[in-house]
Amino acid sequence: MKIERVGIVGAGTMGSGITQTAAVAGLKVVVIDVTDAALSRGVASLGNSLERLVAKGKLGHEARAAALARIETSTDYGRLADVDLVIEAATESYDLKVRILRQIESAARTDAIIASNTSSISITALGATLADPARFIGMHFFNPVPMMPLVEIIRGVRTSAATAEAIHMLTTRFDKSPIGVKNSPGFVVNRILVPMINEAFFVLAEGIATAEEIDAGMKLGANHPIGPLALADLVGLDVVLSVLDVFLRDFGDPKYRACPLLRELVAAGRLGRKTGSGVYDYS
Ligand code: NAD
Repeated sequence: MKIERVGIVGAGTMGSGITQTAAVAGLKVVVIDVTDAALSRGVASLGNSLERLVAKGKLGHEARAAALARIETSTDYGRLADVDLVIEAATESYDLKVRILRQIESAARTDAIIASNTSSISITALGATLADPARFIGMHFFNPVPMMPLVEIIRGVRTSAATAEAIHMLTTRFDKSPIGVKNSPGFVVNRILVPMINEAFFVLAEGIATAEEIDAGMKLGANHPIGPLALADLVGLDVVLSVLDVFLRDFGDPKYRACPLLRELVAAGRLGRKTGSGVYDYS
């Protein structure tokens, strides 16, 4: 199936990044959000991002203008009537996503593919709420979308091979590298990354080394570009904790128990860079 027109639902951090990526790749994009203010913020943010690419010489002025001209915005789901694919990138809530997916399904063509960028909700479970789960798939981008090359493509139990193949091809057109993943909590990257960050909190809490030493250890000894504790501050300690709690609940395995120090910092409102302090102080 040829994908030329894409609908993006949600104009936040991820939705605006996916919109930018799709528009630069030459696809027509219609972005849906609940308010005009959210849509304006999203377009302003991707406009700034494109501007930075031009300043760095990575994108020409004409390519930037052409990408912007391919983007339309609306608060009306009816505008999804002629798209080939809809990527849902709205707020992370199961109930909200179920409601949005049903709205998408009733607005879009019956052969359109529907993808979700969810980080933690089961693709199989979301697909089961739709009339045709074969056309539903996970398309997990990484933040910031225009910079990060990976897309995890998650097949739910009832996702068809044709749907997976079309999304693999599209990801390559986006100049990104796909990996195919079976539906499972945390998919591949967060399943490995988040328990590693949790272990760094245990090492810190046990007084085995300072935060700076732990981060230096993983940068210099494991060749990571950023240490696990600095990364936790970047992602948000609350986000790390909620992923661990999902793993503990869904796998039922105590190895995913969050470090009490992590829980304590979240309770104190020290969520990382976004609040000015987490493991480190940014004030
Ligand atoms: P965000 O809060 O920046 O944006 C969410 C957007 O969804 C907002 O603009 C909001 O107005 C909109 N929205 C809410 N209800 C809506 C509705 N009914 N219809 C249309 N739009 C609606 O969130 P985000 O960080 O962009 O995350 C979006 C999704 O991407 C989540 O599922 C999240 O788990 C996933 N994700 C996030 C990251 C990340 O690092 N932020 C990485 C990978 C995946």
